[in-house]
Amino acid sequence: MRILVTNDDGVYAMGLWALVRALSEVGEVVVVAPDREQSAVGTSVTLHQPLRAREIKPLVKGIKSYSVEGTPADSVILALRGLLDDKVDLVASGINEGSNLGNDVLISGTVGAALQGYLNGIPSIALSVAALEDIHFDAAAKLAVVMARIIEAKALPREILFNINLPNLPLSQIQAVEITQLGRRSYGDVIKEGHDGKRKYYWIVRGKPDWESEEGTDIWALLNDRISITPLHSNLTSTSALSALKGLSQAIFQDLGLKS
Ligand code: MN
Repeated sequence: MRILVTNDDGVYAMGLWALVRALSEVGEVVVVAPDREQSAVGTSVTLHQPLRAREIKPLVKGIKSYSVEGTPADSVILALRGLLDDKVDLVASGINEGSNLGNDVLISGTVGAALQGYLNGIPSIALSVAALEDIHFDAAAKLAVVMARIIEAKALPREILFNINLPNLPLSQIQAVEITQLGRRSYGDVIKEGHDGKRKYYWIVRGKPDWESEEGTDIWALLNDRISITPLHSNLTSTSALSALKGLSQAIFQDLGLKS
């Protein structure tokens, strides 16, 4: 099994190498990851400037590793279409420092990288631990191995994009594994104004998140010291708005001054 490991915290992040060390048990691991922290860049792809990749000395011996001047999604596209000739069986993104729950998946670089694997038809998982310091990577690394083996055994539907979050606990203290839906979590973003001596600037500061901890969601799982695995897909169509809008399509057409 050939496994591409990437992240959004940068190629030298501890979480990435914890993941590399664990997944080396399962197959051949190759690292292609951004050269610096790229958290919250989401699915961003660089089209207006060239990408540069450099082979680096790995932090785990014998692992072929590249540092990319680009986003997490860039790293995966470059790996699959350029550096590794598409011969990848699994894309593993993480282990991210900080959870990616609910609406976070829409801006998460960790998920953004996994999404590129998925869009290229490769089983892909994003792994995050819910803490920004004193992080326990062990449980997430072990879980990655378990998931890789399940995926290798082809025990699941073909299209795989899993968003996995873990509470920041030692493995022995984790209560359960939950298969979840995305919850809702919104941030009261605050704009801080300042002046750099020449110009005024604005800084978006994320406020404390507002949780909706409905049972069965990823947020609920984490609040209860459980692992959350959320299967995602890329179809964002709102079925409820779809039917409401369908009833309006004729009126919209007529409001354009057109006649059928
Ligand atoms: Mn990150």
